[in-house]
Amino acid sequence: MDLIKIGKFIANCRKDKNLTQEQLAEKLYVTDRAVSKWERGLSLPDAGKMLDLCGILDIKVNELLTGEKIDMENMNKKSEELLVEMARQEQIKNKKLLTSMYVMTGSAIFFFIGIVLLACVTLKQGPILAAIICAATALLVFIAFYGLKLEVDAGYYECAKCHHKFTPKNYFVAMFAPHLNTTRYLKCPECNKRSWAKKVMSKD
Ligand SMILES: [Zn+2]
Repeated sequence: MDLIKIGKFIANCRKDKNLTQEQLAEKLYVTDRAVSKWERGLSLPDAGKMLDLCGILDIKVNELLTGEKIDMENMNKKSEELLVEMARQEQIKNKKLLTSMYVMTGSAIFFFIGIVLLACVTLKQGPILAAIICAATALLVFIAFYGLKLEVDAGYYECAKCHHKFTPKNYFVAMFAPHLNTTRYLKCPECNKRSWAKKVMSKD
């Protein structure tokens, strides 16, 4: 807290109200020395006097503590801008997650088919072929799980019945839900109905 700034602010507000230090002191039942100390930035009014002081000077407590007038209209606009920006950042992050999921699972399937075909053609049969197919399948399953995790983490599912946006309780719920691309048949926690819930990137 900037006591000097607060002090100057108190002095200016007092002058705006056409009060002397003595008059202000009298209204607050404090000494004029105390008011003078506040205004020179040597001390802060006691918490017990702060509300009365704000009342007399016609300012808000957070204005007193920041030592400046806060334009309420501006303040609301500022926080709104901040919220919009945060939502935008979340959308970008979620789109990236989803894109990496597509790239990863897509190339995994491509790779899987390639390996299996190549192994079949070159090895014809035998335990090595079986081992390669097993390993490739295991890898594909692992990547499919990871892709599912990315999909679930990116954004929300929107209930087709009530349009509530939610994330599934856990990955298993999503895993066992039938799906078409990223649209999954899920139960909505809001209305408790099952529907084909579309993937959406943000809450609003
Ligand atoms: Zn619903």
